[in-house]
Amino acid sequence: MTPPIGDIFSRLLDAYGPRGWWPLSGLRRLDPRSGGYHPGDFRLPASAKQRFEIGVGAILTQNTTWKQVEGCLDVLESAGLLVSDALLQAPVEVIESAIRPSGYFRVKARKLCGFSRFFQQWDPEPPPRPQLLSVWGIGEETADSILLYAYGRPFFVVDAYTRRLMARLTGEAAPGYAGLRKKITAPFLRLETARRVQVFNEFHALLVHLAKTHCRSRPLCRGCPLETVCMSAER
Ligand code: SF4
Repeated sequence: MTPPIGDIFSRLLDAYGPRGWWPLSGLRRLDPRSGGYHPGDFRLPASAKQRFEIGVGAILTQNTTWKQVEGCLDVLESAGLLVSDALLQAPVEVIESAIRPSGYFRVKARKLCGFSRFFQQWDPEPPPRPQLLSVWGIGEETADSILLYAYGRPFFVVDAYTRRLMARLTGEAAPGYAGLRKKITAPFLRLETARRVQVFNEFHALLVHLAKTHCRSRPLCRGCPLETVCMSAER
């Protein structure tokens, strides 16, 4: 049985506080201790450059750690390539070299170019999800990350951490992407859109934090905020 989703969200928010996603490299450079996070400030991103950076980050973070992505974003920024025009005009070898630490750098360079063209067609309008999904290399998780964090659209992001956590919480195999998203978002559908976006923004970030602190590949259940409601808690 699934513990009430709203209760899970409240427990995580009480335990960890607002996470301030999506981290922005400009904020991180201004205040390295912030890591670029901006807890409680949902006005960001506030510019095309920041929206583009979120899209680039969402692609670069595929199959790698955020630490690696941060380094790549800094190299792109110092080369003046964190702008769609400049990225599209840059030789592909320059892009590949800048993003090499993120892994799969040739494939990701191609994805970044495709996304840059798409970004120029749509921004500042939020793109429709099907169109975004039609861009080569952008799957559901990446598309929803861009829609939620760059454009403030109410699309919850499901990732491997979410699937692992929900399977442990319920003691059952997690459904596919759409099924899990439906299950998690159902209790929040009555909220007005702006509030729903804030909840989805925080909830995904809180689940990632839980997965990195307690619900790791080898779970550390003692002290986990969900210990008393989790079917898999080691007691
Ligand atoms: S109690 Fe353990 S298995 Fe359950 S969510 Fe927490 S860390 Fe994961």
